Amino acid sequence: MGRPVVTPAESVISARYGNGQIPNDEMVQVAPELGRFGWLLPDAARGWHAMAAGAWAAGFRLDATGMYRSLADQEALFVQRHTPHLTPPGKFWRLRWWRLKPGMATAARPGTSNHGKGRSIDAAEETDGDPAPEGLTSRLLAWLETNAVSFGFSWERGIDRSEPWHVVYFLGDTVSPRTLAYERAGHPSTQNPPEVTMFVVATFGSTDRWLVSASNGRPVRTAIDPAHAEPFERKTGGLMIVTPAWLDSVTVAA
Ligand SMILES: [Zn+2]
Repeated sequence: MGRPVVTPAESVISARYGNGQIPNDEMVQVAPELGRFGWLLPDAARGWHAMAAGAWAAGFRLDATGMYRSLADQEALFVQRHTPHLTPPGKFWRLRWWRLKPGMATAARPGTSNHGKGRSIDAAEETDGDPAPEGLTSRLLAWLETNAVSFGFSWERGIDRSEPWHVVYFLGDTVSPRTLAYERAGHPSTQNPPEVTMFVVATFGSTDRWLVSASNGRPVRTAIDPAHAEPFERKTGGLMIVTPAWLDSVTVAA
């Protein structure tokens, strides 16, 4: 099965700012990637969260190694992966032609990446139980090829074959019916793998909170009593998706 490519709808939020210049309080935090939190536009985060839960229900631990990138992040990545030349071919940037180093994944010219619009994710998979995710298995990739569009994600034109892990949220400031159905279902309780650090999640735009697995984004218990949520946050040092107002009211440990 091929990988669907859908032209992403513009988000009002990201259109208001330059690429890689979206302030954190316009985005939400989602599952940690390699020891830090990733950031996405709110509706992209909702789609990602629902898709991670869908993947979990199918037996996969969907994770990520990259989400939003600031312009400075993108510049650093671009310079790391390319060598500058005075003549083409390459990508033209800052009066030089930049050619990809052998064996490197591509990095978009700074200011043009969908990562800088808060809507791209480098997907990964947790397969060995440690905190660092592994690359996507062919089985999870096949699941994504069948299911990602129903959560609002597709691959990116031009790199859909070379970067199967790079997905883009194409629904702008809306979510899919499947994501809505997931949110309305109330997230059934499941077993909590003891080795997995747990995080508290609050959905954007509501006061509902759940416990979720930090490694795969799957909710494990519904409707935490708000009175219990705050001490739990302090103990585990984690939040996953939060409202900006709520984020302002709590301290997130490193
Ligand atoms: Zn990417």
